Amino acid sequence: MKIHEYQAKEILKEYGVAVPDGIAATTVEGAVDAAKKMKENGASLFVVKAQIHAGGRGKGRTKKNDAKGVILCKTIDEVKEAAESLLGDVLVTIQTGEEGQLVQTIYVTDGVDIKKEFYVGVLLDRAVSKNVIMASTEGGVEIEKVAEETPEKIIKEWIEPGMGLQVNQARRIAFSLGLEGKALKSCIKFIMALYKAYEETDSDMFEINPLIVTPDDEIFALDAKVTFDGNALYRHPELAELKDEAEEDPAELEASKYDLNYIKLDGNVGCMVNGAGLAMATMDIIKLSGGEPANFLDVGGGANVETVKNGFRIILEDKNVKAILINIFGGIVRCDRVANGVIEAVKDPEIAEKVKNVPIIVRLQGTNAEEAKEIIDNSGMNVISAVLLKEAAEAVSKVMA
Ligand code: ADP
Ligand code: MG
Repeated sequence: MKIHEYQAKEILKEYGVAVPDGIAATTVEGAVDAAKKMKENGASLFVVKAQIHAGGRGKGRTKKNDAKGVILCKTIDEVKEAAESLLGDVLVTIQTGEEGQLVQTIYVTDGVDIKKEFYVGVLLDRAVSKNVIMASTEGGVEIEKVAEETPEKIIKEWIEPGMGLQVNQARRIAFSLGLEGKALKSCIKFIMALYKAYEETDSDMFEINPLIVTPDDEIFALDAKVTFDGNALYRHPELAELKDEAEEDPAELEASKYDLNYIKLDGNVGCMVNGAGLAMATMDIIKLSGGEPANFLDVGGGANVETVKNGFRIILEDKNVKAILINIFGGIVRCDRVANGVIEAVKDPEIAEKVKNVPIIVRLQGTNAEEAKEIIDNSGMNVISAVLLKEAAEAVSKVMA
């Protein structure tokens, strides 16, 4: 689960990671009040930042007002103008795609003098099952580009799970960023605090880009991108509340309410599968048969009438869907029960209307697969049955032709 920069910075602050002061706002008046308050506390330069769940804001532009996603302001009037140009406009960045993202919240933060920008990130290195801290002197720019073109410029320290991050590792990172004296010390403290925050919040990723050094050798996180591990959110109800539903794909949001694992894709063949591995394989089959998967959808072990109905509702929200492939392996759940569930779901008037022109192919394999095929073939419904994957793939090719 992703959160906004301002939320991430509030968490970092609690852990003692240095961040510039700032106040989030959802209205122009709110932004002006924030700037006034910050001025009373000594701020003389402000930066107004669009809060969307995507990076590249500094180089992005809004559609209507052609405003940058990160705007430097010298006066409160400029903060007002910046807020007016961002709120309600759609920001397009390298990470949002062409459609961009609506700006509903902005962050007014202290403008900081920058001597040098670095990159520091913490994430899980799945290849070695350890957390890794990555750092680079090439901050501010896209780290993916650095990783590809000049991988030697990325420093990595892997953390032993039983031991946690050691001070000498944090020192090694800070040292290899070329820091010394006061900045070196602050950076070590910064990295130790950052790692603690990452670990205690059960995060997937903490990315500080840029981490900066000021001319006074102070260290700050100027940007923060945090992703929590969705499977660990039950341990952190206070973090789960940070979810901004406006930033989520509506179909994905609905799916999460039904406990379905759905990810929207760009293709035209919808699929409904039990088990993530089989779902991946099904997407491959769709591709091999000349289609493009419209989604990933794992309905889990149950696959009863309700889950199938909910699956249909979500898949059919996507207007690109031209056919649906249901691929269920009946291990614990019997295929005949799934078949009856599918037929019942298709008979539901709301769904029947939507699938009028969308062929449905059902491949059921496992316990009572034969009975299941009979149920589908004798249902009188517009549902095509298949037992082998090959047959399912051929059926997809045929309906898509
Ligand atoms: P994004 O990664 O989405 O482009 P950042 O928060 O990294 O957004 O901001 C982009 C750039 O804007 C930074 O690399 C930095 O140079 C500048 N910047 C961001 N916040 C501040 C700030 N508080 N003070 C001064 N400059 C800033
Ligand atoms: Mg950034």
